[in-house]
Amino acid sequence: MMRIDILTLFPNMFTGVFNESILKKAQEKKAVSLNVINFRDFADNKHKTVDDYPYGGGAGMVLKPQPIFDAVAHVTKDSERPRIILLCPQGERYTQKKAEELAKEDHLVLICGHYEGYDERIREYLVTDEISIGDYVLTGGELGAMVIVDSVVRLLPGVLGNEASPVHDSFSSGLLEHPHYTRPADFRGMKVPDVLLSGNHRLIEEWREKQSLKRTFLRRPDLLENYPLTEKQKRWIEEWKKEEQ
Ligand code: SAM
Repeated sequence: MMRIDILTLFPNMFTGVFNESILKKAQEKKAVSLNVINFRDFADNKHKTVDDYPYGGGAGMVLKPQPIFDAVAHVTKDSERPRIILLCPQGERYTQKKAEELAKEDHLVLICGHYEGYDERIREYLVTDEISIGDYVLTGGELGAMVIVDSVVRLLPGVLGNEASPVHDSFSSGLLEHPHYTRPADFRGMKVPDVLLSGNHRLIEEWREKQSLKRTFLRRPDLLENYPLTEKQKRWIEEWKKEEQ
């Protein structure tokens, strides 16, 4: 069973997210154990202070090293090879590839910051990874930790049923996913493409492949830069380029 420890100053933020849907089921199926820990409990001063003024002056408070070092030591004491991940906007930008990499681990520790930032020694001497969930600034690392937990746990064996296999999800294949339709076939004059009603599985697969590629070409051409295109796919792209001109 994978173990994920989350070190935060706001443990209640996780209650709703961890007790619904797939994350709840994954814990019930014993695919993952999710532990939320308030690192303020590890502060060794009388007032349980976790932050202090920055050396050199300036605005904002900085998270002290001691509570975080001690909280990490506590949760990793029986762990052989924990991945210790700092949530921060300066980290490596999070991707599906990273989620797949983390899903292979036995033990993740996620550290959620607050205030101006962390004492630099946490970065330098404690963590194995620094992750940003995107180029914007959040108030704290909690939402980022939830994003990582959700995206990793749904990849763990047995968590999703076959009906919701992650293999075809956008990014997993390197492309965005094809469009989906459900009943009715005609909704207020808006029709489902004929091919999907044809019952011809070969044609349906080809339509999906083409739509998936076209979406990626139109919306996220950057994803195609290193994608191994087949000759047929290259021809489709040439057609779309001509249409664009
Ligand atoms: N002063 C910091 C800077 O410019 O890098 C930003 C601090 S931010 C207000 C407080 C905390 O929110 C960070 O320590 C981090 O844990 C979290 N955070 C903010 N933006 C994030 C992002 N894009 N990805 C992951 N965590 C983020």
